[in-house]
Amino acid sequence: MNARELDRYKRLLLEKQRELSGASGGAGTPIPAAGGQQGDLIDQANADFEAELQIRLHQTDGRLVRAIEEALTRIRYSAFGICAACGQRISKARLEAVPWTRLCRECKERKRA
Ligand SMILES: [Zn+2]
Repeated sequence: MNARELDRYKRLLLEKQRELSGASGGAGTPIPAAGGQQGDLIDQANADFEAELQIRLHQTDGRLVRAIEEALTRIRYSAFGICAACGQRISKARLEAVPWTRLCRECKERKRA
């Protein structure tokens, strides 16, 4: 992989990193003030579900932030774009979609199976 390509992926990673830190650095999800006691059970259930979803998204973000940091380290040590499991090059299409990935598609799918 040449320097220009690496630079491109680096920019993609940094962009995503900034996006994530902006999303988790805020004051959190604003809680709707209206409703209160008047809200019925369905609204309550929806609110619980959304809160849970928010937490789950947050956990995923944490993993992603670490994965992006690792990918940036790999760029620094010229190990970027190489599958951590089989040592093969990861396809450009895959890196384009998930530049922080450590595994080629085959290894990823094998892992899932
Ligand atoms: Zn692999």
